[in-house]
Amino acid sequence: MAKIAFIGLGNMGGGMAANLAKAGHEVMAFDLSEDALRRARDHGCTPVDDAVAAVTGADAIVTMLPAGTHVASVYADSVIPNADKHAILIDCSTIDVATAREVEAKAKDAGLTMVDAPVSGGIAAADAGTLTFMVGGSDEGFEKARPILEKMGKAVIHAGDAGAGQAAKICNNMLLGATMAATAETFALAQKLGLDLQTFYDISSKASGQSWSMTSYCPVPGVGPDSPADRNYQGGFASALMLKDLKLAMDAAKTAGAYTPMGGEAEELYQRFVDLGGAGVDFSGIIKMIDDSWKSDKKG
Ligand code: NAD
Repeated sequence: MAKIAFIGLGNMGGGMAANLAKAGHEVMAFDLSEDALRRARDHGCTPVDDAVAAVTGADAIVTMLPAGTHVASVYADSVIPNADKHAILIDCSTIDVATAREVEAKAKDAGLTMVDAPVSGGIAAADAGTLTFMVGGSDEGFEKARPILEKMGKAVIHAGDAGAGQAAKICNNMLLGATMAATAETFALAQKLGLDLQTFYDISSKASGQSWSMTSYCPVPGVGPDSPADRNYQGGFASALMLKDLKLAMDAAKTAGAYTPMGGEAEELYQRFVDLGGAGVDFSGIIKMIDDSWKSDKKG
């Protein structure tokens, strides 16, 4: 079994590190938060005093940090100067494509192999070990990272070279944000036009308007499979995180010279929802802003 450094034991990283320990790996865990370190110890990891202690002698180094600035500094200060040459470096955080490529280039210059491996799936999937990983990096890096990632997820997909995992993640989430906003406003209109919403769902879910946002995660309580809408939009994927991903997508679009009007509109809508206090609400809860007459007690 491998010796694995895990840095960033928050909502996502806590469950991921626990799954590596459960699989029999020796997990050297570090986070700035004492609470996170305590939880990691309760789940079979070995808490250490700093990131350098975690990475020294590790076969694999996994990071799950809030944003690009954290990733850049942790790799520059602790990981790259101290990692063994044989170690595989795996950043699972969602960050901007440019920073992902810069950090990988610095690791490569130091003779290290690094992949970006952001995830699809939220806290429940991190706890259950059912995440989907989108991996950017060389074939060699992907093959080294795969057995580690498989202990934390149900699917591990090689998206392309360095940064491709982050690119796939933000493109997917831009589409998700736009289709969720469109699904929410469509159901609000259907209701105002006097349609029975279950009947409209039965029609549209089998017609050309169908999307994942409708048939797997319907924002209307009591319609479609069980989803956060049925729990007053609690749990699931927080609107603040959807906004973060939309901002990353818009920055990437600007850099790449891509025209993304629907993504831009989705970013504006989620910004407004977060400003109105929706940051911690599941992203399907945007229906409550689109039609403020919407009530979660419309179930059934
Ligand atoms: P979080 O804020 O709960 O956890 C981040 C952890 O990193 C915190 O415990 C923090 O103390 C720690 N940290 C910050 N700087 C550090 C440093 N220098 N050294 C050590 N530890 C440090 O965030 P999260 O919800 O776990 O998300 C982590 C990443 O996963 C983000 O990039 C997020 O966008 C992405 N993501 C989150 C979800 C979700 O549903 N929460 C889903 C998919 C992807």
